[in-house]
Amino acid sequence: MKARSVVALTGAGISAESGVPTFRGGGSAVWKGMPFDQISSARMVRENLPEVWEWFDYRRGVLRDCRPNPAHFALAEWKRRFAEFTLVTQNVDDLHRAAGSDDVIELHGNIQRSRCTRCGKSFDIAGIVPHEPDRCDDCGSKVRPDVVLFGEMLPYDAFETAERMARKCDLFFVIGTSALVYPAVGLAEIAKHHGAFLVEINPEETPMSDVCDVTIRAKAGEFVPLL
Ligand code: NAD
Ligand code: ZN
Repeated sequence: MKARSVVALTGAGISAESGVPTFRGGGSAVWKGMPFDQISSARMVRENLPEVWEWFDYRRGVLRDCRPNPAHFALAEWKRRFAEFTLVTQNVDDLHRAAGSDDVIELHGNIQRSRCTRCGKSFDIAGIVPHEPDRCDDCGSKVRPDVVLFGEMLPYDAFETAERMARKCDLFFVIGTSALVYPAVGLAEIAKHHGAFLVEINPEETPMSDVCDVTIRAKAGEFVPLL
């Protein structure tokens, strides 16, 4: 049987071979003595936005030398390969777009964009470290990173579209995610519930492994281009 509608959900693991640290893989879990769920929180945006920006500009500086890997490039090709293909990512690193995927559903936003704290206007800040502008050119309010922080909701439209595609797809890939982050991982369960065939690509076992029809213990950059 040939799959008509395909969804791929990617997590930090797909960017590991590009040199982007994963969360649970260590490296960037603490910033100036603060755990990442504290510095990357809605509360810190309210209480100390300059510190939040310092952390995000630091991360954007680390990303400056990171390039998409063969897994990102292969997924950018899948648009042409299947009648319907939806790419959903939990990553904020912009590497799918850099590889040529132009309509990625970004569940957690994008670190290469800022957003006005008042009117919501967004700004492309790719390659600009530290971020610029510092204030919205429409209403003059402060801008913040356009990412979903701890204590915040996922963007409604993005999640709703992803959920709709998960319901109707017949093949669903879970690539490089520890499957601990809800509700994003709930998408795989929705797909399964509606009859899709689930494939996991991850060098390690995850809570999703048992739910998947096939699990491939391999690195995304090595395996995805072979599919
Ligand atoms: P995670 O760090 O919790 O888990 C990474 C997963 O990737 C692990 O299961 C690991 O076994 C797997 N992995 C490691 N190397 C791999 C490889 N070469 N190929 C395939 N899989 C590999 O990441 P998560 O599940 O995405 O959740 C963390 C949250 O943090 C996400 O919501 C994400 O938004 C955010 N985050 C994003 C980035 C990024 O944008 N690149 C980086 C770190 C964290
Ligand atoms: Zn504004």
